[in-house]
This record gives sequence, C-alpha cells and structure tokens, in this order.
Amino acid sequence: ESQLNPSYTFDRFIEGDCNRLARSAGMAVAKKPGQTAFNPLMIFGNVGLGKTHLAHAIGNEVKKNMKDKVVLYVSSEHFTNQFIESLTKNAISDFVNYYQLVDLLIVDDIQFLAKKQKTQDIFFHIFNHLHQRGKQLILTSDRPPKEMADIEERLISRFKWGLSADLQVPSLETRMAIIQQKMHNDGIELPHNVMEYISYTVRSNVRELEGILISLIAQSALNQRDIDMSLAREVISKFVDDVSQEISIEFIQKIVADYYDIPVEKLREKTRKKLIVTARKLSMYLAKQLSNKSLTFIGAAFGGRDHSTVIHACKSVEAMLQNDQSFKSIVADLKQKIKQNTQ
Ligand code: ADP
Ligand code: MG
Repeated sequence: ESQLNPSYTFDRFIEGDCNRLARSAGMAVAKKPGQTAFNPLMIFGNVGLGKTHLAHAIGNEVKKNMKDKVVLYVSSEHFTNQFIESLTKNAISDFVNYYQLVDLLIVDDIQFLAKKQKTQDIFFHIFNHLHQRGKQLILTSDRPPKEMADIEERLISRFKWGLSADLQVPSLETRMAIIQQKMHNDGIELPHNVMEYISYTVRSNVRELEGILISLIAQSALNQRDIDMSLAREVISKFVDDVSQEISIEFIQKIVADYYDIPVEKLREKTRKKLIVTARKLSMYLAKQLSNKSLTFIGAAFGGRDHSTVIHACKSVEAMLQNDQSFKSIVADLKQKIKQNTQ
C-alpha cells in the first residue's frame, strides 16, 4: 500500500507564483523519478501551504503512469514509530528491507526527526541505499535544510544534494483560483463578491482558507441562509484574528485590472501600452491614497519600480482627474469598491 491520498493530484494543485518552482520540479520528478538532478526533492514551507498535497501529487502521478514502481508515502512520525516498534521486536532488518524495496519514497515533515538520533541514523542508511540505486526521494519540511536544528550534519548535507523548493503564501489571484476550484469540486456556487472578500481577508494559508469555506457552507446549511456577504463576514470574524484589514496593494491592483479587463500581472510588467500604463498609474495613485504604504513599498509592488515613478504616476492621475469628468467618476467608483470590500 502506497498510503497516498488519491485526491491530492496535480490537477487539483493550483499553480501560482507561490509554488511554480516546486510544482514544476515535482512534475519533472514524476516524469522521471530518480533520473533528474532533483534527488532528493525537498519541498519546504510553512504549515498549510501544500507540501503534503504536492508530495502526494508526485506519488499519484508516478503510480498512474508507471505501474511497476513501488511508491511509498510516510510521515516522519510514522517512520519513527515503525522503527521503534522494529527495535522492540528485534526486527530492524525487516524494517530496513521494507524501505529499501521502494522506488519512490516520500517522507513528510522531516523536521520531526530532530533530536531522534537513532531514527536519523537508520534513515541515513536507507537514504544512501536508495539514492545510490537511482531511486527517488521526496522530503518535506517546515523549514529549509540550513535551518534544521538537531539533525545530523551528514543528513542535512544529503538533503542539499538535490533541489530545495519552497512554497510561499499564494497571492490574491491564486487564492481566488483555489477557492473557485474547491467550490467547483463541491458543486457550490459562491457569489463573486463573497469570493473576493474571502480571498482578500484570509491571507495566511490554504488550509485556513479551506476551513473558512467549510464553515461557511455548514453555517449556510444549518441556518438555511444564503451564502452572502453578511454570512461571510460573520464566519470570517470568528476565524481570522486580524480582520482590521488594511487595504492591500494587491487588492487594489486586482480591482483596477478587472475594471480595465487586463491581466493583473501587466501592472507589474514593463508594457508601455497606453491602456496598461493608465491602469498602472491609477493603481499606484489609489495605492498611495488608500493604503498606508510608503512610496518605496508601492513602487516595489509594481514590479520593482522606484518611488519617483510612483510620484510621477500620482501627479499624472491628478492632472487627468482635473480635466476628465468621466475618469473622475470611474476613480470614485473604484475607490468605493475597494473600500466596500475592506471595511
Ligand atoms: P502542508 O502539508 O504544507 O501543511 P497541505 O498539503 O496539507 O499543507 O495543504 C493544506 C490544504 O490546502 C490541503 O487541503 C491542500 O489540498 C490545499 N492546498 C494547498 N495548496 C494548494 C494549491 N496550490 N491548490 C489547491 N489546494 C491547495
Ligand atoms: Mg503536511
């Protein structure tokens, strides 16, 4: 038994800037396990960002396409417990043999091996055996190898042999896409403003995002209420400590990009197309007006521009506001929309 969760697949793992490297390295490994430079593949990142999901996705993909490969998923805790049990039963060689038969070994949350000297030793042994034979190892951890305390140096140096790829907090757009997918899988429709509100407010990690959705659906069923903004606000206020919600630049960018019907990335790129330049200047202006971020910070959020660009953009928007009544009313509407979603 591989111990894989069949619903943790690549199709369900939404891609974003936050996970692009890890996801594509994972795909490469799944195509040619043991035959890429990514061995071991170390996936690290904070809780709830998709390490376990991605690791299973690789395992599931290999199992699907290469039926003869032995794939095994194990958490570090389970590995440790199995090892201790084998010690007490005097069956260490069975334990070692079992792991040495595997073609793709996934060990989740490797940080839990900290301070467990004997388990680390046996794992070192298994690691070497598999690696030398071109078998694939995938490890996950809540921190990068260099920050792993209380793990033997020789193991850490092996962790660094392959590729370490991190998972970051998904951007607003990626959070939206994740919510959309989850709702689609559950066959539930969420009003667009509710979706925007949740993805804007819940910024910590994907697990929390899922928790909010589950609770929203449950509350709506229990109290026979529609899933609307007022229910969303109630549910979120119970979950999220800091609903104070300072207005974020990424939210402003999204609202403006939606209005002009352009991809939000364009605001951060170098494109000089007139429409995009206008949208970019306007977003900078709104960021300056509505967020309490510095000019330098705002510039950085637009693809690393400097503060003088932001000043220039603000001046040019102010000039347009004076001369163009319809632009003025557009700006007022957008301001209203941004504020509505963030009170
Ligand atoms: P971790 O192991 O890093 O703590 P998990 O892999 O358990 O995180 O992910 C937490 C939840 O979030 C899971 O239900 C997972 O399916 C979901 N999730 C995380 N990242 C994504 C993503 N990019 N797309 C879709 N779902 C995701
Ligand atoms: Mg996990």
